[in-house]
Amino acid sequence: MKQPYLRKKPKSHLKKKAQKIFQLLIRKYGEPHWHSVMPPLDELISTILSQNTNDFNRDLAFQRLRARYPSWDQMRDAPADEVIAAIRPAGLANQKGPRMQDILQKITQEHGSLELDFLRDYSKEEARKWLLRFKGVGPKTAAIVMQFSLGIPAFPVDTHIYRVTGRLGLRPDKMSASQAHKHLENIFDPKQYPAAHLNLILLGREICHSRQPECDTCILKNICPYYKSVFLIKLQK
Ligand code: SF4
Repeated sequence: MKQPYLRKKPKSHLKKKAQKIFQLLIRKYGEPHWHSVMPPLDELISTILSQNTNDFNRDLAFQRLRARYPSWDQMRDAPADEVIAAIRPAGLANQKGPRMQDILQKITQEHGSLELDFLRDYSKEEARKWLLRFKGVGPKTAAIVMQFSLGIPAFPVDTHIYRVTGRLGLRPDKMSASQAHKHLENIFDPKQYPAAHLNLILLGREICHSRQPECDTCILKNICPYYKSVFLIKLQK
């Protein structure tokens, strides 16, 4: 939906607003925890599986993969249709399976072994660039691996975060989800990325739904331009 109430704001204003939102979300949801810290290659596989599905199906597909292939070398060398069958619960299996095997093959060719720990020595932009070379790895997947496994601060932007930050006026209306990654990294403190990421997703899932957000119950309504615009429209009726 077009959001005419958003105007370009200076970065200092956005940083201040990001802090306010961060504190209010911490007050509501507390300090959240990532589901589990995995080795970077495991996180990469798990995050690719998570694309376009829910956490339950992602975890089921990951467990099936692990049960069938105790090592990533075995998965890399397995017949494609066998891998596709194993990850079927995650959906888009015909696409995800070959992409993941291709990534495993390329990592082996380049580094001789299947692990991504060498990325810990890369700068943030080097690590991001390295991960983004692979088909099936977009800015969100790269940022998740960086932030939640490699310990390199990055702000993953999923569909909830993109929608909620747009409504809150934390990003320009026309900014793409891909651009929003670096933008949000610039306005939040790097130490706050994990909690801000997870709490914004919670808000998006529980209250700031895609359709019919429950603004009346939202703790952010007093600082939300979307809410104010809807409220004004109601008043004018
Ligand atoms: S006030 Fe409404 S639109 Fe704004 S963040 Fe809350 S639920 Fe979303």
